[in-house]
Order: sequence, then C-alpha cells, then structure tokens
Amino acid sequence: MLHTPIKWPNGAKCACAITFDIDADSLIHIARPKDGHGRLYPISMGKYGPIIAIPRILETYRRLEIKQSFFAPGWCMEEYPDTMDAILAGGHEIGHHGYLHEDPMKHSATEQRYWFERALDAHQKVTGRKPKGYRAPVYNINQAVIDLMIEHEFSYESSLMGDDVPYMLKTEKGNLVELPVHWGTDDWPTFAHYEEIGYLMPVSAPSTGLQGFMEEFEAHYEAGGFCMAIWHPFLTGRLARWRAVEKWLESVMERGDVWFAPLHEIAQHVHDQYDLDPNNVRSDELPYYNKPVLL
Ligand SMILES: [Zn+2]
Repeated sequence: MLHTPIKWPNGAKCACAITFDIDADSLIHIARPKDGHGRLYPISMGKYGPIIAIPRILETYRRLEIKQSFFAPGWCMEEYPDTMDAILAGGHEIGHHGYLHEDPMKHSATEQRYWFERALDAHQKVTGRKPKGYRAPVYNINQAVIDLMIEHEFSYESSLMGDDVPYMLKTEKGNLVELPVHWGTDDWPTFAHYEEIGYLMPVSAPSTGLQGFMEEFEAHYEAGGFCMAIWHPFLTGRLARWRAVEKWLESVMERGDVWFAPLHEIAQHVHDQYDLDPNNVRSDELPYYNKPVLL
C-alpha cells in the first residue's frame, strides 16, 4: 500500500526510470586532490563510463525507443563533451550533479553557491540550457542547495528518501518535486569496490547484484508506484551487468503498462497533478529543522 499514490498518465500501472550518475574519474580527483591525477587505475575505471559504457547504454535505449535521464558533474561535461552530445542527440536529459562531485555538506553556503553555479555554467556551455533537475553528490543535499535550486527555477530534486513515490518539497520561497532515491535501487553497495575513496564492498555477480532492484520494481509494479534505478555507467554499464539489464528491460517493456520517461517529464506530471489538486501529492515542508535538536 502506498501513502499517497500518484495517478500515472495514459493508464500506466507504474512509472520507472533508469538514471545514471556519470561520475567518471571526478571521484578520484575530488577524493585525492593532490595525487588523484597520477592514479591511472581509478582514472581508467572511471573513464570506462563515458567512453565505453554510455555508447552501449544509448544503443539499448535507441533500440527500445526510450528516453531516460543522466546526471553529470559539470567538470565531466567539460571533459567528455562528445559523450554529452551523444546523450542529447538521443533525446535524453542531463541533470545537475555538482561541479567536481563535491559534497555540499563540506562547504560553506558561499562555496556551495560557487560550485553550484559553476556547474550551471558548464551545462549552459555544453547543452545550451539550464538543467531542470538535480541530484546531490553522495545524496548530501542541504537547505542551501534547495534554495539555490528554487532561485534557478529547477523543477525537481532527486537525493532524498522520504517516500516510495514522488512528493512535493515545500519551502517559503517555492516548491520542488522530489523524485526519491533509495540505497535498495542504487548500484553502489553491490558493485562498487574502490579502496582509494574508502569503499571495500564485496562485488556481487551481475544476477545477484541486480536482483534487489528487480524485486523493488515488482513491488512498485504491483502497488502502482515509482521505481528508479540510481546507477553508475562504470559499474552497471559493464558488459555482463548491462546484458542482464537489457534482458530485464525487454521483458518489462513487453508488459506494455510501465511508463518509462526522463525525470523531467515525470516531475512535470507530478507538478500538474499537484496543480489540479494539492491533495494528489504528499508534501514535506522544508527545512525540517532550523537548529540542532538538543540546543
Ligand atoms: Zn555521483
């Protein structure tokens, strides 16, 4: 049972989105600012995303005729412009994901504005427009970023975990649709093994690693919910894993009643439902707290 189900368009039973965070080698440069540029193995592991995995992913999307969303740090957009052009040429969306994958919680409000707007400049330069959505590096969003998103007229946010289906984030200055994430549909815990940035995870077989996501999907399909994958091209875009995803996608699309769409379209649908009647969408008021709870 869902708390506040969303009515999906065209009779769809549930909504589904595969989102890829194109972190590439930004992760090693931000984690090891002094010597990351000389660490060839993690650089190559990250570069596999934009160079090898994304063309593979885009070919699947082209064949199955679906449009999806990617999130990219601004630095990655400048470093891999051909990959970004290929994503845009396929009709897909690129959302904001920081500049060099910096963690908002490690910066002052002034620094956050600098990095947020430097990433916006990269989007303008590469795509010719501002992004409509944002996902915080390591999900570490805070109120300063929410305020920046509203100031720059974003439509949606995708870093929080407060519901199974999209909901509204209401602030004094404006609203954003939240398209919620969750570790259960993120590929980091099952596939990331990256000692240089502090992760030593047991790597799962493709079928085992993807099993959790597929079970999450079935629950959403049954309940009429919203299932979103939060994946990384250099993890789930590897050959055997993507082969398993392709087979799953083909079988799910045969059902004919799952709405696959880029996040900006899903967010717009939720805004429209809210405009029809605010009771159609559950709302959270932000900020949750203005001070430490024990002060
Ligand atoms: Zn990321």
